[in-house]
Amino acid sequence: MIWPCICKHPGQDKIHGPGRRVFNPTNKSTKDTEVGRCTVCLAERSVKRAEPLPEAKPARKQEAAPEPEKKPEKKEKQVKRR
Ligand SMILES: [Zn+2]
Repeated sequence: MIWPCICKHPGQDKIHGPGRRVFNPTNKSTKDTEVGRCTVCLAERSVKRAEPLPEAKPARKQEAAPEPEKKPEKKEKQVKRR
């Protein structure tokens, strides 16, 4: 599985993307949480199964303030031809 990690490894950066590392599943995983170990720095990381990826959480949607649509109206003055 590919999870984000803070360790540096240019090789895996190229293969999996910057900051993404290959994790090995551990037997600490439960039905709710998956625990993996980074193959680079051996750090263990647990991810709730409900969340596909720790960093994949979409930012909370901000309610966009209703912006009045203003169309710049350019009134072209008719120039009389000479
Ligand atoms: Zn790591």
